[in-house]
Amino acid sequence: MLTVEKKEFWFVVGSQHLYGEEALQEVRSHAEEMVKELNDNGKLSYPVVLQELAVSADAITRIMKEVNYRDEVAGVITWMHTFSPAKMWIRGTKLLQKPLLHLATQYNESIPWQTIDMDFMNLNQAAHGDREYGFINARLKKQNKIVVGYWKRQEVQKQIAEWMDVAVAFNESFNIKVARFGDNMRNVAVTEGDKVEAQIQFGWVVDYFGIGDLVRYIDAVKDEEVDALFAEYKNLYDFDYGDYDHEIWEAHVKVQARQEIGIRHFLEAGNYNAFSSNFEDLYGMQQLPGLAVQRLMAEGYGFAGEGDWKTAAIDRLMKVMARNENTGFMEDYTYELAAGRESILQSHMMEVDPTLANNKPKIVVSPLSMGDREDPARLVFDGKAGAGVVVSMADFGTHYKLLINEVELFEPTEEAPMLPVARVLWEIKPNFQEGVGAWIEAGGGHHTVVSLNVTSDQIITWAKLVGLDYILIK
Ligand code: MN
Repeated sequence: MLTVEKKEFWFVVGSQHLYGEEALQEVRSHAEEMVKELNDNGKLSYPVVLQELAVSADAITRIMKEVNYRDEVAGVITWMHTFSPAKMWIRGTKLLQKPLLHLATQYNESIPWQTIDMDFMNLNQAAHGDREYGFINARLKKQNKIVVGYWKRQEVQKQIAEWMDVAVAFNESFNIKVARFGDNMRNVAVTEGDKVEAQIQFGWVVDYFGIGDLVRYIDAVKDEEVDALFAEYKNLYDFDYGDYDHEIWEAHVKVQARQEIGIRHFLEAGNYNAFSSNFEDLYGMQQLPGLAVQRLMAEGYGFAGEGDWKTAAIDRLMKVMARNENTGFMEDYTYELAAGRESILQSHMMEVDPTLANNKPKIVVSPLSMGDREDPARLVFDGKAGAGVVVSMADFGTHYKLLINEVELFEPTEEAPMLPVARVLWEIKPNFQEGVGAWIEAGGGHHTVVSLNVTSDQIITWAKLVGLDYILIK
């Protein structure tokens, strides 16, 4: 996939000099043990690196400056082993520009009633230290994540792992670059937005290109490259020739192969990791990119149709969070309203993300029924089942708003032989009537990103970090 550069997290342990060097030695050895446990057994996607003990304002400030400066450090995990007077933390915490997780835990799981004395209690006073430290983070409005519980427990480590994915996505958000091939679809409202504000608030660079700029890249693709990619398609997908003459069908598919290579070259040349297209704006192109876009989505590029750069950027962001598993651009299409079976059919004209595929996709060539280009090729499949989260962003003029809805995806039970696109089905939480009503009332859009691997809690953690208004429907 389109990867993120190597990341790590710094582990900073709060203490103080009050209890002497011997106590600090013990703090250090406990911290080493905890970091080793997290790295060896935590099922974390990124390494944790122990730093010098945070026993003075100077030390803390030094560490946080270094965190900001080093690209490979995605965030900071703090643990208040003892009591760490929080005035020491003010300067460094204020300077910190990366996500912060306060791990509210303690070295010992239980209180050793037979042996506990004042020394032990002074050394192991995380309950005391957590509150002193938490006060400063709250007062500084740090929007830090707080994970509570015994550090060896799986659910505690899982929460750390999930936060890490958000922290990496937060950092990567400042590297999101969207190439817009064409402008927004004419007359459509919800796909518009303030691009300057999006760059200030979320770090997204959004650049427009005329279709001619892209067509030059597509036309420059060599026939041998196209043939090699077509052979790859043969290995990966079923070919559904339908009523087409085989030669014509293959020629149509090869148009998409050429587009795939051309778009990839264009994106690589400009360091873009997301893009949008518009079916109204295809001057010089033979087909609307369908299969081509789906293949690039599967690789980790963010995408949305109709010039919707906001959803393309959110797609990329959530793909980073999900490490590109089961996550993609979606559009609310058709309701199922039968009592007890209420749900929404999700799809798009063609561009449904293959990371959501439950079965081996087949390549289908079919007319588009809009626009005036030749019949485009696309991948057709059914979506996976499972608990998911669906996200949409809209610009309300004075601020951006994020809509988050928890949904339950399910496999279709009926064939749809006349439908030449991939389909995904989901039920709305808390129920169809309330969920759909709340979404529409809040002004949520029809373009979304769905993920089976990201939780609503992770989305909210990111929203808080970037000061984004959000509504959770669950
Ligand atoms: Mn659309």
